[in-house]
Amino acid sequence: MPTFRFKALGDVLSREPKVVEFPSDRASNYYATNVFTQEVMREYLPSEAYKSVMASITEGTKLDRKMAGQVASCMKDWALTKGASHYTHWFQPLTGATAEKHDSFFSPISGGRAIEKFDGDNLVQQEPDASSFPNGGIRNTFEARGYTAWDPTSPAFVIDKTLCIPTIFIAYTGEALDYKMPLLKALNAIDNAATDVCQYFDKNISKVNASLGWEQEYFLIDKALFNARPDIMMTGRALVGHNPAKGQQLDDHYFGSISARAMAFMKDYEIEALKLGIPVTTRHNEVAPNQFECAPMFEETNLANDHNLLLMDLMEKIARKHDFRVLLHEKPFGSLNGSGKHNNWSLSTNTGVNLLAPGKNPKTNLRFLTFFVNTIKAIHDNADILRASIASAGNDHRLGANEAPPAIISVFIGSQLTEMLDRLEKNVKAGKMTPEDKTELKLSIGKIPQILLDNTDRNRTSPFAFTGNKFEFRAVGSTANCANPMTTLNVIVAKQLQEFKKSVDAKIKKGIGKDVSILQELQKLIKESKAIRFEGNGYGEEWVKEAKKRGLSNFKDTPRALKIMTKKKTKDLFKELGIFSEIEMDARYEIELETYILKLQIESRTLGDITQNHVIPAAIKYQNILIENVTGLNNIFGKNSSKMTSTQHQLLVEISKHIEGVREKSKKMLEERKNANQIDVSEKKAEAYCDKVKPYFEEVKYHSDKLELLIDDELWPLPKLRELLFTR
Ligand code: ADP
Ligand code: MG
Repeated sequence: MPTFRFKALGDVLSREPKVVEFPSDRASNYYATNVFTQEVMREYLPSEAYKSVMASITEGTKLDRKMAGQVASCMKDWALTKGASHYTHWFQPLTGATAEKHDSFFSPISGGRAIEKFDGDNLVQQEPDASSFPNGGIRNTFEARGYTAWDPTSPAFVIDKTLCIPTIFIAYTGEALDYKMPLLKALNAIDNAATDVCQYFDKNISKVNASLGWEQEYFLIDKALFNARPDIMMTGRALVGHNPAKGQQLDDHYFGSISARAMAFMKDYEIEALKLGIPVTTRHNEVAPNQFECAPMFEETNLANDHNLLLMDLMEKIARKHDFRVLLHEKPFGSLNGSGKHNNWSLSTNTGVNLLAPGKNPKTNLRFLTFFVNTIKAIHDNADILRASIASAGNDHRLGANEAPPAIISVFIGSQLTEMLDRLEKNVKAGKMTPEDKTELKLSIGKIPQILLDNTDRNRTSPFAFTGNKFEFRAVGSTANCANPMTTLNVIVAKQLQEFKKSVDAKIKKGIGKDVSILQELQKLIKESKAIRFEGNGYGEEWVKEAKKRGLSNFKDTPRALKIMTKKKTKDLFKELGIFSEIEMDARYEIELETYILKLQIESRTLGDITQNHVIPAAIKYQNILIENVTGLNNIFGKNSSKMTSTQHQLLVEISKHIEGVREKSKKMLEERKNANQIDVSEKKAEAYCDKVKPYFEEVKYHSDKLELLIDDELWPLPKLRELLFTR
């Protein structure tokens, strides 16, 4: 008997929501109390050391050894007041998760005594044994040295009695082995390029920050049910399971009242998040049952991304305390909405201006249009590179599945801005313009309403939508490290801004006025990037056809989407902006493919196991019960039993058919897997997994789900989808 499933269900029914105590009734009282903030630094550091750290944060200057020693010592003193016993460099290897290796402050000294010690060298650089992290062939194992180096722009924090120091992770030969280092380089590139362009409008602008506001979607399921589902445990998603009669069709979960257990969990992680300085503000139920969303206030991108990774980690830890497991997978349940991580992106200046917010007058509006149009042009020219940055095995289930944005990259800007761009496209004259022309244009530009927020019709089907004062990149997967798409987005916009600056400067040199030069260049960009703008329904079949006509790509799977990384144009772009060398690009391509292959391999193996060890045995047991029943009826009623046993006969036939279906399709899947495993070249291997192995997942699932419907509920060993999603 499948006692495990019923025991799990019993466990769930006996649960009570945990009581969560607030540290104080006001979040502002405990916000960032576990962070080594600027304020804490000012309090703990001698003024010279404080100034040096601030310079390294704002200007990227190197901290000398002596200063580093002082900072380390103060950091330790502060961490000890927070109860910390250990410290770690906290980094983001290309596994997708964060990594940490703890060392104790404790240090024995002579005379049988001990002290707490942490010096500058420990702060600035560490050498974790890094040979097992993915490196895509950059390091041979005999030379497996990589080191982590302190990123002072993201503050240290204390969690679980450990002082965590955000770091980059690089090979001794200089190549990045993580997500943070390229992101920092990309943020530097966009800062330089955008600051240069800002000089046309305001000479006081000396720094531009890219901001990121992510929205994290996730599912919650009870840990007992999670543990009774080997597929969810191993792969993060349900590989089998018949659709429940009720899914999300009644739309009764979206923004619904949050269940007491889920609420206790949310409060708990929010309190911890706030203490860590993660400004979480929004929580709500999402579309699918047991699906939720959490969003903070936006922050500078590097910090926002660290906070996202920290929050994902925090959620998983705290969920266990509440007898939940968090599913961050992009598509845990095939029939229901998947999870994404919208990346809201904008650019803001040291003078406090959001460059993507329409201004009050023609001058500020021209500045807005400059950044707005250049962003659109960057997406137009590099849509495929942007698509590659969000490609993953999990996200393949989501993109284009009529709930998430399609796999075709396009930009939505709303009707008012579309009109505005159309007007500019028509009205800007080539060459010298008369004063009347200029006045007319100024009037026209002045017409952008300052508050577009309520007017940008919320087109939910667009992967890249302008939402009033920011762009929202919606195609990012829920498990993703945002650093990857944010590196790409900021790099392509930086490159475009550089080109723009060159062209406008050339016009100015020829004696054309500054504003007219800018307008003429914008007009050109508007024309050239028209194909990427789409205001219609991104879910429709017509869009697929229309996009094809426009020459836009539609990469439906990861191996195809990633291929752009091998193209010369892509490599040149990243090389030119100083983000990746060719070796680093090749390594990243290799790692992405490898991850894809391994994910599919694990899914395929798990599917084979559960159908062989759980599904087929349960079906056979039920067949035996039926056979016993038919035999018994025959014994008692002889010839007259045929009418009584006809349902049982039919069931026996149907069950046999689906047992055979499961077995045959699993066998074919196994054969294809074996074939794929023989392939040496990652690119071809990934394609084989995608085209030859993956299609069997659905086929095996089809027969397994039929069996779930046919056999006795008491014999079914795996928690059913309705139980995973609705048992509270
Ligand atoms: P939704 O998309 O769920 O309707 P909103 O449109 O209100 O929600 O988006 C809110 C998100 O946008 C938040 O995460 C917020 O921090 C972020 N956001 C707001 N302004 C900016 C900005 N200037 N730069 C980046 N993110 C921003
Ligand atoms: Mg959103």
